[in-house]
Amino acid sequence: MSAALRADVVVVGGGAAGLAAAVALARSRRDVLVVDAGQPRNAPADAAHNVLGREGTPPLELLARGRAEARSYGARVVDGLVTGAGGTVDDFALEVDGGALHVRARRVVLATGLVDELPELPGVREAWGRSVLHCPFCHGWEVRGKRIAVLARDAGALHQVLLFRRLSDDVTLFLHEAPEPDEEQWEQLAALGVRVVTPRVERLVVEGAQVRAVRLEGGRTFPVDAVVVAPRFVARTALYEALGGEATPTPAGARIEADERGATAVPGVRVAGNAAEPTAMVAAAAASGVLVGAAVHGELAAADLARAVRERRAPFSAAAEARVSALVLGDRRHGL
Ligand SMILES: Cc1cc2nc3c(=O)[nH]c(=O)nc-3n(C[C@H](O)[C@H](O)[C@H](O)COP(=O)(O)OP(=O)(O)OC[C@H]3O[C@@H](n4cnc5c(N)ncnc54)[C@H](O)[C@@H]3O)c2cc1C
Repeated sequence: MSAALRADVVVVGGGAAGLAAAVALARSRRDVLVVDAGQPRNAPADAAHNVLGREGTPPLELLARGRAEARSYGARVVDGLVTGAGGTVDDFALEVDGGALHVRARRVVLATGLVDELPELPGVREAWGRSVLHCPFCHGWEVRGKRIAVLARDAGALHQVLLFRRLSDDVTLFLHEAPEPDEEQWEQLAALGVRVVTPRVERLVVEGAQVRAVRLEGGRTFPVDAVVVAPRFVARTALYEALGGEATPTPAGARIEADERGATAVPGVRVAGNAAEPTAMVAAAAASGVLVGAAVHGELAAADLARAVRERRAPFSAAAEARVSALVLGDRRHGL
C-alpha cells in the first residue's frame, strides 16, 4: 500500500547541502520534508576534513547529527529514493521508491549530489576514498610524506601533481592514457622532482582498501602508499530533467546550472551542493544549502503574502460583486 505526504518544500537528498537547506527552512517554520537515499559521496572516507568545528568527524556521523538538527526544528526526514518527479511550481508531485510514497510540495530543492565516475582499472574501486584519492584538501594531509602515485587522465593531472607535491617529496606521475607532456610541462615536472612513468597501467595492487603498488602492462610494479585519480564528476540530473530542466555538460562531467541561490531554469526548483557545483566540499555544500533554504523561504513568504492580500480583499470583492449582480438583476426586473 502506498502512502502520501504533503509539505511546503521537499528536499531531495540529505547530504550536507540538503540537510543544511532543511535546517534553514525548518527554523523559519516551513513544513519541510527531506527524502534521502543515504549515500553521500564521501561515505567511503574515514573522516571529513576541512569542516570547521567538526574536523575529522566520520561522514555518516556528521550527517546523523545534521538529521537530528533538522528534526529538532520539525523537519521530517525519510529514507528513500525519489524515483519520479513532475508537476509545476506550487504543485510538484514526487514518487519515492517506485511509488511506495507520494509527495506533493510547493517547492523542490534538489540536493542529490553527484556520481564520481572512476577510472576503469582493477583496484581503484576497492580502495576508493581510503588510499585511492582525488582531493588534496580532503585527504592530502593524511598521506603527507608518503609514496604518492598520480594516475593521469588528461593534462589536468599536472595540477594534481603540483598540489600533492606540496605534501610529499615522493610523487610519481603515471601517464597511463594521458598525452605526453609538452616541453614546458616536462621542464615543470623536472623542476618539481616528479618521476614520470609512460607505459599504460594494468592495475592497482590492493590489500583490502590499502593500495600497495601500481602494476604496468608487462608486469613492472611500483610500490606506492596512495594513488590520486581524476574521476568525472557527473551530477545526478534525472529528476531535474523529469521536471523540465536540462543538464549542463562540463569538461569533467555534468552539473545543474543555477544562480548563487540555487535558482534553476525551472520555476520552483532550486539546486544545492555538488549537483550544482561539483567542486564544493562539505562546508561549501552546506553553505549553499543554507542560502538555498533561505531563498526558498523568501520566495514562499512572498507568495504567502500575495495570497493573504488576495484573501483579505476577497470578502469585499465578493460583496461588491453581489451588489453589482443585484443591481443588474434589479434593473432587468424594472425593464431597463
Ligand atoms: C572519497 C571522498 C572524500 C571526501 N572527503 C571530503 C572531506 O574530507 N572534506 C570535504 O569537505 N569534502 C570531502 N568530499 C566532498 C564531499 O563528499 C562533498 O562536498 C559533499 O558530499 C557534497 O554534499 P552534497 O549534499 O551536495 O552531496 P552528497 O553528500 O553526495 O549527498 C547527496 C545525497 O542525496 C542522496 N540522493 C541522491 N539521489 C537521490 C534521490 N533520487 N532520492 C533521494 N536521495 C537521493 C544521496 O544518497 C546522498 O545521501 C569528499 C568526496 C569524496 C568522493
